[in-house]
Amino acid sequence: GEAKLQLRHAPSEVKELANTFNMMLSRLSESWEQQRQFVSNVSHELRTPLTVVSGYLQSLLRRSNNLTDYQREALETASSEADRTIHLLQDLLDLARADSGYVQFNLESITLNDLLIEVAEMSEKFSSRAIILNAERSIKAIADRSRLKRILINLIDNAVKYSEPDQPITLTLEQTDQQALIQVHDRGVGIPLHDQTRIFERFYRVDESRARFPLRGSVEQSSGGYGLGLAIVKTLVEGMNGSIHVRSKLGEGSTFTVALPRS
Ligand code: ADP
Repeated sequence: GEAKLQLRHAPSEVKELANTFNMMLSRLSESWEQQRQFVSNVSHELRTPLTVVSGYLQSLLRRSNNLTDYQREALETASSEADRTIHLLQDLLDLARADSGYVQFNLESITLNDLLIEVAEMSEKFSSRAIILNAERSIKAIADRSRLKRILINLIDNAVKYSEPDQPITLTLEQTDQQALIQVHDRGVGIPLHDQTRIFERFYRVDESRARFPLRGSVEQSSGGYGLGLAIVKTLVEGMNGSIHVRSKLGEGSTFTVALPRS
């Protein structure tokens, strides 16, 4: 519902003030809605031609067997930048959709152990990183299966991105009275304390100059994102009535915990 100031028994001046306030509020939410719609339309319009560009670049790369080093490098760079931008546009579309409030969550009872095994196997294959699974007993949660997969893949992707290739990623499954807890733990660069509260904001990225490890075939396939990944993760987790938080120590690693209602 829309916020509205209602004053039935106030003096007329105050009522007038309340009316003005409500008018401003409705203009504000109109312009917010227009902005959301604009982002959504632009993202959509740009994605289509960029997908064509990306397709041609890939087919050129595949079919040309007498390219000079320079030509190959130019095509590869163009291709990966096109893909990175397509990814950004998809993220913007997803966020605009979430902002509209029309995202439907398909909530059901899910055995998290099975889902974690599936996600771990997939991520291991794509990233060739060892993933350790810590799940002692069977734990169920109320969640949207495909959204939850996306959340975990995103978190594992980050864990891979921000840690050395010889360091494993650990997935831990636990529960409290009310909640199922999934932890994604890495022994990577860690996140400075003052950034920890902000990394879930849109477009927020920790200082670029930190050591980054070459991205070897992460599921996401983008070489450095735009700082939207965790914003999307948070929106999705909260859409399933859950919460997410991070614990991290610089130089030691990070643990992201997703808490979901138990089933
Ligand atoms: P990005 O596309 O930049 O990875 P995210 O929203 O996924 O965007 O993450 C925001 C920022 O949080 C990243 O730029 C990175 O600095 C930091 N971050 C996220 N996950 C980790 C992690 N596992 N270890 C260290 N830093 C991380």
